[in-house]
Amino acid sequence: MNLYHNFSSPLQDRIPWLRHRLIGRPKNRRDPAPVDSDVAAQWLRAGASHIISIRQVHETDLLVLPASEFDPPDEQRKADGTVTGSPGLVLRILVADCLPVYFAHEKPRLIALVHAGWRGLASGILTRTIRTLSDLGGGPEGLTVWIGPSIGPCCYEVGKEVIGGFTRPPRFSEGPRGRPMLDLYGSAVDELLSDGVPPASIDRRPPCTKCMSTSLYSHRNGSNQHNLALLQILR
Ligand SMILES: [Zn+2]
Repeated sequence: MNLYHNFSSPLQDRIPWLRHRLIGRPKNRRDPAPVDSDVAAQWLRAGASHIISIRQVHETDLLVLPASEFDPPDEQRKADGTVTGSPGLVLRILVADCLPVYFAHEKPRLIALVHAGWRGLASGILTRTIRTLSDLGGGPEGLTVWIGPSIGPCCYEVGKEVIGGFTRPPRFSEGPRGRPMLDLYGSAVDELLSDGVPPASIDRRPPCTKCMSTSLYSHRNGSNQHNLALLQILR
């Protein structure tokens, strides 16, 4: 994995039963993108039984995999996040400029990994994730949340209709061309806080994928590849 630029959360690094990473570009340009490499398979060798992939569609459906009975889902299952209490399942999503949001709950042990672009955020995918975790016994006060690298408000110019698409007003400022510069991270934090996640349990702002395009893939910076997000409860 150290063949790749990779990122982790200082807060979630302190959780001994959790393994999490956001894996970006290879350090050697001749190596394959992490999605085409055996990086995820290496996590299986460390004790996981299945890698859980979903077909991300910028909506708000979640795939919930209970701890007990488990059949590997179809990889074509449409969802934008996965929730589980099952040790040994590796949750996997792909992101370029969208937010990869990693949730961990201590007692009971639960994790969720969510893909949220502006559409998912505007439609409340984070609130939906928190409700789903709560229904499984993992209330918001016990969550630790990492929002991994995504496009920053420095680089995310959007149309005015994007701002109008949000139920809760998102954070944005006016850019140099008079169009909104959307702050996905700030807007996500607002949603998490209003859903009861303690401020000290949300990690600090991650790097901007477009500004950091030597280490991270960014569609806004002309790449069509993806960064690989992985999350697992260790056995
Ligand atoms: Zn930027």
